[in-house]
Amino acid sequence: MTVRKRIQIRGIVQGVGFRPFVYQTARRVGVAGFVCNTPDGVLVEAEGTQAALDAFLRDLARDPPPLAQVSGIVATEVEPQREVEFSIRSSVEQAFDAVTVLPDVATCDDCRREFTDRGDRRFGYPFTNCTNCGPRYSIIKDVPYDRAQTTMQNFRMCEKCRAEYDDPANRRFHAQPNACPVCGPRLLLVEHDGTAVAVAGAKNGGRVTDIETLREVHRLLRHGKIIAIKGLGGFHLACDAENDQAVRRLRSRKRRSDKPFAVMAADIASVRRFCNVSAADLQSLLRPSHPIVILERRPDAAISPAIAPGNNTLGVMLPYTPLHALLFAECEEATREFSALVMTSGNLSEEPIVTSNEQALERLVHVADAFLVHNRRIHMRVDDSVVRVFRGKERVLRRSRGYVPGVIELGKPVVEILACGPEQKNTFCLTQGRYAMLSQHIGDLENYETLEFFEETLAKLKKLFRVEPRAIAYDLHPRYLSSQYALEQAGLQKIGVQHHHAHIASCMAENGLNEKVIGVAFDGTGFGSDGRIWGGEFLVADLEHFERRAHLRYVPLAGGDAAIRQPWRSALSYLRETYGNDLPHDLPLWNEVAEKERTIVWKMLERGINTVETSSCGRLFDAVASILGLRHEINFEAQAAIKLEMAACAGSNGEGVYPFQIEFADPWQIDLRPMIESIVGEVQQGARREAIAARFHDTLAVMIAEVCRSLREREALNKVCLSGGAFQNMLLLDRTHAALGEHGFEVYLHASVPPNDGGIALGQALIANAALKRGA
Ligand SMILES: [Zn+2]
Ligand SMILES: [Zn+2]
Repeated sequence: MTVRKRIQIRGIVQGVGFRPFVYQTARRVGVAGFVCNTPDGVLVEAEGTQAALDAFLRDLARDPPPLAQVSGIVATEVEPQREVEFSIRSSVEQAFDAVTVLPDVATCDDCRREFTDRGDRRFGYPFTNCTNCGPRYSIIKDVPYDRAQTTMQNFRMCEKCRAEYDDPANRRFHAQPNACPVCGPRLLLVEHDGTAVAVAGAKNGGRVTDIETLREVHRLLRHGKIIAIKGLGGFHLACDAENDQAVRRLRSRKRRSDKPFAVMAADIASVRRFCNVSAADLQSLLRPSHPIVILERRPDAAISPAIAPGNNTLGVMLPYTPLHALLFAECEEATREFSALVMTSGNLSEEPIVTSNEQALERLVHVADAFLVHNRRIHMRVDDSVVRVFRGKERVLRRSRGYVPGVIELGKPVVEILACGPEQKNTFCLTQGRYAMLSQHIGDLENYETLEFFEETLAKLKKLFRVEPRAIAYDLHPRYLSSQYALEQAGLQKIGVQHHHAHIASCMAENGLNEKVIGVAFDGTGFGSDGRIWGGEFLVADLEHFERRAHLRYVPLAGGDAAIRQPWRSALSYLRETYGNDLPHDLPLWNEVAEKERTIVWKMLERGINTVETSSCGRLFDAVASILGLRHEINFEAQAAIKLEMAACAGSNGEGVYPFQIEFADPWQIDLRPMIESIVGEVQQGARREAIAARFHDTLAVMIAEVCRSLREREALNKVCLSGGAFQNMLLLDRTHAALGEHGFEVYLHASVPPNDGGIALGQALIANAALKRGA
């Protein structure tokens, strides 16, 4: 007897080769009917014998295409239609669900086999892709996701590519960026003035092939040259990671001082030569997003020390496009193969990464020796994402390529809101339906170029997702460009959100929490409701309200931004708070910071000139790093804190903690002056800095657990959310998590959203949504 079923499949099932999969499954088990895309996912109608239909449903659930994520299959019986064929219907194609726009996907194994196979027509072709891999978000201009709406629109498929594209049984069926050496994008290696580099080995008069171009790039890299390479979401600056001279040259040309460079390693074996790789690390390295994974560097790693000076970690990724993979491919006249390249963002410091060929030639002219460009336009600029594994789970620190525009499920419908995010590590957030869409990493909104990137990305995402926000959320800091942007938007309801409340709300959102929690928000800078700079905060909060129940005791900071660049200023301030005018002798600070400068800052502190009071955890780390003589000045964010963490990792543990006091005022004040006194005493006695740094971390963890216990006694709350940039410090996170766990707290951390300011737009959006619902 013939049975017919209507099967609705939901989840990420569009643009991932799901219909051909259904088609092939139907043919294999012998059912008739059709499959098509609908706004809700994929709709299938299938008829055949009961046994065939059972097999069909079983196989659909069991073996979906790699990029698909099925969230539900619902089958209902309908009247048989006596169909005999199974077909893919495209008539409903227009009803594409915007939420299914996919992130860019790293090269799949099938494609890799093709472009490394001498016999394949795609041998050496750097733009090979298929339904299971390749560019998506970086090339999509509009939905539905169709070649004409991507930056592949100008490339006409050749006959062979077209045949693949049209064949439901082919891996490239409806693969929109499908391309080959005959019809697709091409590489070009150019000089500073834009003229083509003469490529050796190119046949007389003939067109230079991509393989020949790559061979020349390979030769230049081997000779220590710096090449600007156009990738998926922007340009990289690349050089041989094992060539110390080349790396130093890149560092000096980029004027990047000591900020670590990311590395791209040829393969897993190469990663293992430089770093210790856990099973969870490996999983992250290999996932379709291919992020930069922060790994523990091996002490014997034969890699230029200039890549991440003074750091015991290394940010490593694997090649995620064929172009990148081919940079490592063996080259016939190779005398030495390199196994890792520095791959740092192609930008001038603090500006967004460069995406167009013209911009690259203009902006990177003093940095790169040559430019490897191509003629596929990058529509969406996306930086590499950065993750780190903590307790076996991936934690995203910079959410960009490969993760965006993946949506965050909120579990409840929300108002359409734009949350403008913070100033540093800016991302913004749009909400729609039951989803939040966090933009890719925009960067520090401190210059015109970055603000332009913010506005441009916002316009593109609003179009792509068809969102028209009703309200706009912003950080309370009056000087943030993102806040100023929000306040300039006419006709929208505006909702200011406190920085640390947003941190905690963001952590709540990704953990699906909706009740009151204890929120521990530790970071560098956030504008407080009292006009001071907060950063060591204990909140009792839900999405609607927060109460600031405890914080690090305020210390005055002299000189605004200079105080952040010069940790010794924080040290001086903490010392003055602890000892008054009777400062302790024998600290490295007295010899290592010019007396003249110290005197000026001292006077500022005495008279309260250009000072601001802060409870910042970041400045506390600065102060301790400087008191220990680890770092008095910094040239990238959190450099002193990282130095202190590195020292602590080398220190022994289990040696007790320093004293501190909690004053139960309103709010409670955490007084760390007794700790400063103990640390100073130990420095004067010549104790190991590593041991002091380790005890300092332990003290903070114990203090956090102590404050949370006191809060629990009064509030009967047992859930603690940890958020803020300070919890990127893995030692602090580990010790705090352990200390809270010992006292039976349920601890919630970030995972898919950054703990740093890159995650707060999500919190802003949810707090604004709660405010609107309350007001409505
Ligand atoms: Zn592929
Ligand atoms: Zn072709």
